[in-house]
Formats: sequence, structure tokens, C-alpha cells
Amino acid sequence: MLEEAGRAPDAAVVTAVSKTHGAERIRPLLEAGHRIFGENRVQEAAAKWPALKADYPDIELHLVGPLQSNKAKEAVALFDVIETVDRPKIARALAAEMDRQERTPRLFIQVNTGEEDQKAGIAPDEADAFIAQCREEFGLVIEGLMCIPPMGDDPAPHFALLAKIAARNRLTALSMGMSGDYAVAVRLGATHVRIGTAIFGERAQAGA
Ligand SMILES: *Cc1c(COP(=O)(O)O)cnc(C)c1O
Repeated sequence: MLEEAGRAPDAAVVTAVSKTHGAERIRPLLEAGHRIFGENRVQEAAAKWPALKADYPDIELHLVGPLQSNKAKEAVALFDVIETVDRPKIARALAAEMDRQERTPRLFIQVNTGEEDQKAGIAPDEADAFIAQCREEFGLVIEGLMCIPPMGDDPAPHFALLAKIAARNRLTALSMGMSGDYAVAVRLGATHVRIGTAIFGERAQAGA
């Protein structure tokens, strides 16, 4: 698929999104050598991953779901990459926890490219100011941007918008594309794709 997009086969990192799946479904991937996983809930990840990380210390665990500031402490302790930084309150809480724990998970800012009320993410027209604030006021190193296009929309304009915001803020990492649209995302510059269903099969819990 990456060859088709005219990009090197290793251009996009695959984050295997294991939400709702138990350790027995995850271990075969670990045994096969995969190390990069994503979860969307701090609580669920905290129950599942410490034991797996004890067995495979080089696991890279990504938080891909919304973060509440009262979970910042747990998120900094558990995750290696937090993809959903999306407002000053969270950025401030993460910066404080990173100082306290002397742990520096890599950070992505989530952009609500579809400007959906129910979806997390900073609004596109507030993204530049928020990225600057994260860097200057909170002293955070921002690695890239992440988005989840609205269901049913053509994802391409959303991916293109994310790439444009990243470029003008000198950010090179783009987490975009899921099971249904990763090929489009890679064509538009994704460096990270987040794949659940295409790896683990359908999730039992609707909407999870
Ligand atoms: C569940 C989830 C995914 C994976 O979705 P699939 O369509 O199952 O590949 C990707 N990103 C986020 C933020 C998710 O919550």
C-alpha cells in the first residue's frame, strides 16, 4: 500500500489499537515482534498494559483517546506517546506531571478538523496559537498532530488540512488514518496510522 502511495514501505508507523481486546489477543502480536500499540481509555490501559510491559519492556504505548486532567498523572506514568493533547488545561497538567515524574512521553496535538461539538481536539483556527502556547508557555516538545475525520465525511480534506497545519508549524509527524482510510492518509503524508479493526477484527462493544 505504501508503494502505491509513492512512499517508502517504512514511511508510516502502524499503531495497533487494541482497545476492548484482552491481553490474550495482544500477546500473539507481541510474540510476532510488534511493539507499538494504542488505547483510548486510561483506565482500561492501566488494567491491561503494566503486565505486558513487564514482559516486553520495549513496548511503545500510545494514548489515542480523550484525556481528562485528573488522569494526567496516570497517563504520564503509563503512556509513551500521548496523541490527544487538545487544550491548555491538559497541556499544563501534563507539563507539571512530566516534571514531577521525570518522564517525558512524546506528545501529539489532536485537531478537531471537522469542528464537531462532541469530538475532542483543538479547533483548526486555534491550532497555531495552541501549538505556540504548548511550546512557549508550557515548555513542551510537540512531535506532531493527530486527527479523526467525521464519520461519513471524505477523509481526504481533513488529512490535507492536518498536514497543512503541521507544515506551517514545522511539525513532521502526522497521526492520521484508521482501518477504513489509512491508504488515503498515507497518500496525504501520514507518518503514523492507527489500526484497530483491520488487525484485531470487529470490536464487540459498539462505538468503543
Ligand atoms: C478505535 C480507534 C482507532 C482504530 O479504529 P479502526 O477503525 O478499528 O481501525 C483509531 N484511532 C482512534 C482514536 C480510535 O479510538
